[in-house]
Amino acid sequence: MSIIDSHTHFFPGKVAEEAIPKIEATSGCTAYTDGTQAGLISSMEAAGIQCSVVLPVATNPEKVSSINRFSASLNDSRLHMAGALHPKADHWREQLEEVIQLGFSAVKLHPDYQEFYPDDPDLLPFFAALRDNGLLVAIHAGEDLSYKPPYGGGPARIARLIENLPGIKVFAGHMGGYRMWDEVDRCLVGKPVYMDTSFSFGEMSDERIRSMIGRHGVEYVLFGTDSPWLDQATEIKNILRLGLGSAVEEKIFYGNAVRLLPVLAGQGQSDK
Ligand SMILES: [Zn+2]
Repeated sequence: MSIIDSHTHFFPGKVAEEAIPKIEATSGCTAYTDGTQAGLISSMEAAGIQCSVVLPVATNPEKVSSINRFSASLNDSRLHMAGALHPKADHWREQLEEVIQLGFSAVKLHPDYQEFYPDDPDLLPFFAALRDNGLLVAIHAGEDLSYKPPYGGGPARIARLIENLPGIKVFAGHMGGYRMWDEVDRCLVGKPVYMDTSFSFGEMSDERIRSMIGRHGVEYVLFGTDSPWLDQATEIKNILRLGLGSAVEEKIFYGNAVRLLPVLAGQGQSDK
């Protein structure tokens, strides 16, 4: 079975040396890789993952362009890099042009690191432009262990974004909202929004995860680990433990990701 991890991170070598201990200190999480590209690849090999979607976050508007040029140079058959954008950048239109020109299929946004609300009316033109260019919008959703409340990316706000902009493709991390799953149940379940499974096991009961996947619709749930912050091999076992059956597992591990990002079809098969 081919497996795509739809939610991973790594940092350029020197940045990893600083970023990993810093995030470990603020979040209380422990990284399962050294936070580098090589660390992610060896984790994938150990877990049997053919392709990882990597979601870099631009923590300030000035970093967007350099992150994107660096990421574009790393795309290969095992790593599918998302572009970075910053909703608060004055020159986001030019940065979006570059994202399109560099061929990205998705962009990652983080409401806490970037201090925005997905349903802010001032950001409608920004999100409309992402939609109109067919980009998948990957958004951190729910609480973030490195921050204190209030959190920017609550499920109700993401639901309003989708209502305001029909047709926008949103990929909300952590089953629609880390540690805000009552709000996910009220506002997001059953809506046309993609979710990944990272940071749900052990936080919700297996029974609740199974129920949520069923109620939301298996077509909209993707396997994601948030590596390095969780162990990819363990997260595969967690999915299998749910006993969803091989047809559903195939969708979560592979089929849904390829439907959402057709460029992923056949990734990881050519080299190695
Ligand atoms: Zn993440």
